[in-house]
Amino acid sequence: MKYDVIIVGAGPGGIFSAFELVKLNTNLKIAIFEAGNSLEKRKCPIDGDKVKSCIKCPTCAIMNGFGGAGAFSDGKYNITNQFGGSLYEYIGKQQAIDLMKYVDEINLKYGGEGTKLYSTADTKIKKMCLENGLHLLDAQVRHLGTDINYVVLENLYNHLKDKVDFFFRTPVEKVLKNGDGYLVKTASDEYECDRCIISVGRSGSKWMETVCEDLEIPTKSNRVDIGVRVELPAEIFSTMTDELYESKIVYRTEKFEDLVRTFCMNPHGAVVNENTNGIVTVNGHSYEDPSKHTDNTNFALLVSKHFSEPFKDSNGYGESIARLSNMLGGGVIVQRFGDLVRGRRSNAARISEGYVTPTLAATPGDLSLVIPKRILDGIIEMIYALDKICPGTANDDTLLYGVEVKFYNMEVELDENLETRNKGLFVIGDGSGVTHSLSHASASGVYVARYIAENM
Ligand SMILES: Cc1cc2nc3c(=O)[nH]c(=O)nc-3n(C[C@H](O)[C@H](O)[C@H](O)COP(=O)(O)OP(=O)(O)OC[C@H]3O[C@@H](n4cnc5c(N)ncnc54)[C@H](O)[C@@H]3O)c2cc1C
Repeated sequence: MKYDVIIVGAGPGGIFSAFELVKLNTNLKIAIFEAGNSLEKRKCPIDGDKVKSCIKCPTCAIMNGFGGAGAFSDGKYNITNQFGGSLYEYIGKQQAIDLMKYVDEINLKYGGEGTKLYSTADTKIKKMCLENGLHLLDAQVRHLGTDINYVVLENLYNHLKDKVDFFFRTPVEKVLKNGDGYLVKTASDEYECDRCIISVGRSGSKWMETVCEDLEIPTKSNRVDIGVRVELPAEIFSTMTDELYESKIVYRTEKFEDLVRTFCMNPHGAVVNENTNGIVTVNGHSYEDPSKHTDNTNFALLVSKHFSEPFKDSNGYGESIARLSNMLGGGVIVQRFGDLVRGRRSNAARISEGYVTPTLAATPGDLSLVIPKRILDGIIEMIYALDKICPGTANDDTLLYGVEVKFYNMEVELDENLETRNKGLFVIGDGSGVTHSLSHASASGVYVARYIAENM
């Protein structure tokens, strides 16, 4: 079978490249191959009752399927070059912002209208942070919420389904050169295409490495972020979340001068498991619909580690730490902040006596047995720093879940068109190592689609 364009992966990167290609050239024959399920079939079996923790399904409903890792994400579209990826280094700052705004317009048109756009501009919070050694990064944030994000994805799928051939539960095994085009191999079939866009996200990182080996595409090791997810009563962080929803705050520790930062803030949200290549880590999300709100706010505190010589495997380092927590806790570990600073493990009784009710059924334990001291010291220091702007953050009952690990794909060598040294083969989204957010991944999809449509 022959296509003009084959897209591997139906996450935000893949979806937005298909959307833009269809819009610009209705004659193109396009296929999307996706390892996971269609949207309506994506259901994580953890119900907190019969299934309490990850049972390692063959395809993870949280990470794989139409919508990608973004499908049950909080749907926070950050419009900024200050975090979320380095797309601007390839395409320029203004173009990157323009594309993120374009993606925002599409999201609004396909179901996101009425959702709120927050901004850090002209806020007093920035000053308050600076006075306490904390640095608030600039961004506009569209919060779709997990529920509206789902509606947008549903509408985008309905728009695309008759214009693009979708192959679900069909992981691509090989992408090989085939004359001027490419041969895309699945377990049972082979497909030819003139252009191939690979957008396999974080869950496709190991597979992406094999593609780069097969096609001799150079790669560079990337960083890994290690830390915890903090959960506390929503009132404590309301000064920040009411005005900004999500705030990215960076803190330089006094002890080691390491940078610790907040990540993925979910007011009135829930803490969830995340399964990356069989390793269970922690994440968080929240709903736009007030009836689904919890009493808690959660966010991650992360420290970046980058290894280059002689050890290069930053992701392997993160994986080993996550495996250690899985070994000790059978999955994610939860600990009261008060127990951590007193050097004792949390147990079920201490957690249930606390005033913060956990939104994730994790195993009570001791994070100091898992997270390296330097990283943990930095996190504790930042919790005390945050306590100055949001008093109560360092309360004994504040919950810490571990470990949260942000794996970054190795950086694939790409030119300014996000094209590899093999002409006609593009790598976009988180799978390229260039982006690590919904807005940057989506913007990279639009960018490549425009380039392909112009040149085909
Ligand atoms: C719980 C959670 C919450 C998040 N919240 C936010 C947030 O609020 N804001 C934000 O900016 N980011 C958030 N993120 C991150 C965000 O989801 C990702 O940055 C984004 O989805 C990346 O898009 P992508 O298209 O590059 O990759 P992905 O969304 O990972 O999609 C890649 C797709 O490729 C498929 N695939 C992989 N390998 C193959 C193969 N060999 N063949 C076929 N298909 C394959 C996968 O199944 C997957 O569906 C969150 C992530 C999680 C897990």
